[in-house]
Amino acid sequence: THFGFKTVDFTEKASKVAEVFSSVADKYDVMNDLMSMGLHRPWKSRFVSLLNPGRLPGSPNAQQILDVAGGTGDISYRILEHMTDINRDVESRVLCTDINPDMLREGERRLETDPSLARWKDRIEFRVENAETLESIPDNSIDIYTVSFGIRNVTDIPKALRTAHRVLKPGGVLGVLEFSRVKPWILDEIYQRYSFSVIPVMGQIVAGDRDSYQYLVESIRMFPTQARFAEMIEEAGFELPVGKPYEELTFGVANIWRGIKM
Ligand code: SAM
Repeated sequence: THFGFKTVDFTEKASKVAEVFSSVADKYDVMNDLMSMGLHRPWKSRFVSLLNPGRLPGSPNAQQILDVAGGTGDISYRILEHMTDINRDVESRVLCTDINPDMLREGERRLETDPSLARWKDRIEFRVENAETLESIPDNSIDIYTVSFGIRNVTDIPKALRTAHRVLKPGGVLGVLEFSRVKPWILDEIYQRYSFSVIPVMGQIVAGDRDSYQYLVESIRMFPTQARFAEMIEEAGFELPVGKPYEELTFGVANIWRGIKM
């Protein structure tokens, strides 16, 4: 236990994850802003710009982007915006997948109700898929695979990474955005105190659900270090960017890893 709170039994991880995200789906977006104090927005922007989705000028082929554990579609919508407004690509498409239909339904609801998202209707699809298997996704079919704040919830992470490698085209890129270890230690101390005391209470007040948010902070603690997770990406068959296996955002609170399928 950390700071006297009970810990979650990770043998029941899969069903716990399902319960957590069904419970938080309709409050998910507002909770993200509150818990990260708005920081998830610049983190996600950086993640998407670094991956630079969208067909480059002169390339004949539209891209197929796969957003895994895409939840309410936050990353998928940002990808569409970047492709279109930065790279002037109006054809490439995003498939937003998640194991939880309640989260996807919330993403579809946003498409229907948020006028700024209406323009993506023909270029986004939502589909239930487990990151470990991605059954409906053919081998060598994806240009960019993204997973944002999702990989730590997957029960068998090495299996999900091997599946990412399977579905990517040669030359395709894996992008992972995820929490990991905060450095230096003094900031980690503050961060731990914040996350283990403030976040569950916020979850109770805003979403009426303390346990789900307790699970979320504990799952961050269980996730590998930046360096170890980079190794896991390599073990799944990817090449890491030369000289820079990962990028830390806000002292390592969030991090970006990329892997290239050669
Ligand atoms: N990518 C979105 C974002 O950045 O805002 C949502 C992230 S949300 C914290 C984590 C998501 O992972 C949840 O929607 C959950 O249902 C999904 N998830 C958990 N286990 C999964 C699995 N095995 N396969 C696919 N999605 C999974």
